[in-house]
Amino acid sequence: MKMLMLARNANLYSHKRLVQAAEARGHELDIVNTLRCYMNITSHRPMVIYNGEKLAGYDAVIPRIGASITYYGLAVLRQFEMMGVFPLNESVAIGRSRDKLRSMQLLARDGIGLPVTAFAHDPKVTEEVIKIAGGAPVVIKLLEGTQGIGVVLADTQISAKSVVEAFRGANVNILVQEFIKEAGGTDIRAFVVGGKVVAAMQRKGASDDFRSNLHRGGEGSRIKITAEERSTALRAAKAMGLNVCGVDMLRSNHGAVVMEVNSSPGLEGVENATGVDVADLMIQFLEKNAKPGKTKTKGR
Ligand code: ADP
Ligand code: GLU
Repeated sequence: MKMLMLARNANLYSHKRLVQAAEARGHELDIVNTLRCYMNITSHRPMVIYNGEKLAGYDAVIPRIGASITYYGLAVLRQFEMMGVFPLNESVAIGRSRDKLRSMQLLARDGIGLPVTAFAHDPKVTEEVIKIAGGAPVVIKLLEGTQGIGVVLADTQISAKSVVEAFRGANVNILVQEFIKEAGGTDIRAFVVGGKVVAAMQRKGASDDFRSNLHRGGEGSRIKITAEERSTALRAAKAMGLNVCGVDMLRSNHGAVVMEVNSSPGLEGVENATGVDVADLMIQFLEKNAKPGKTKTKGR
């Protein structure tokens, strides 16, 4: 097969591993810089152009679109969908996952366990929003944050109120969430490919941090998840419509709760922690599913 990856940096571990895995299975995988793609919109023959040449003849496209270029990146991906090229994850599903409130609402609609979460725009209701989240301690999150930046633990009512007010003053959107203390600074990343959890790791934060992000000095290790956790991860992937994703969960007293669903999960942490060849499984998924006319949404 002929595959294309939309990515800005060809040298990232995940991207190199996908190229290796594709080539090892006899496929060709080209990488193009998403931001250098341009396209026509009006014609009945949608196309994507790169360095003056049409990107044509691909059976599948692997979107690795960073959060900061979501808007343009999804437009490029949609264009491939309109051309009938099969995407590893569809643009609509990635769009859902990039909006934290929308994601949580979709997960809640399907009855998937979530930390008790509240959000509001009006600063007059700050105290009530903290109360809805169960009162201090609470976790306050910047909606635009990633890699644990903009995630704050407020121990007391007074600090919670001042953190919310500080974020509000900076005119950013936030949510307030019950603090799952019993997770003990760890979380679970379940890696889903094509309706199966193919690998799972536990991430533990640096000893003085309640955040377990690998980017914040956390460490990953292989973990056996429960049947309930497996089913929560698969239902979350399905609710978002993602073929490939990383589902981040916390072990709470009321069962597994989903924090977020990542549509471009990194491979380095999970492959090193579990020894699973996740890149190969992603390529195998494309082999089985990337048939002409199988693109479901085409942006709808
Ligand atoms: P980001 O999307 O920036 O990675 P997360 O929402 O995943 O932010 O939060 C970062 C980390 O903080 C998580 O991996 C987890 O360890 C911790 N954390 C987040 N929310 C909670 C919570 N409600 N209770 C306890 N720990 C949390
Ligand atoms: N993009 C990274 C991933 O999905 C972020 C995870 C982290 O910060 O630990 O694996």
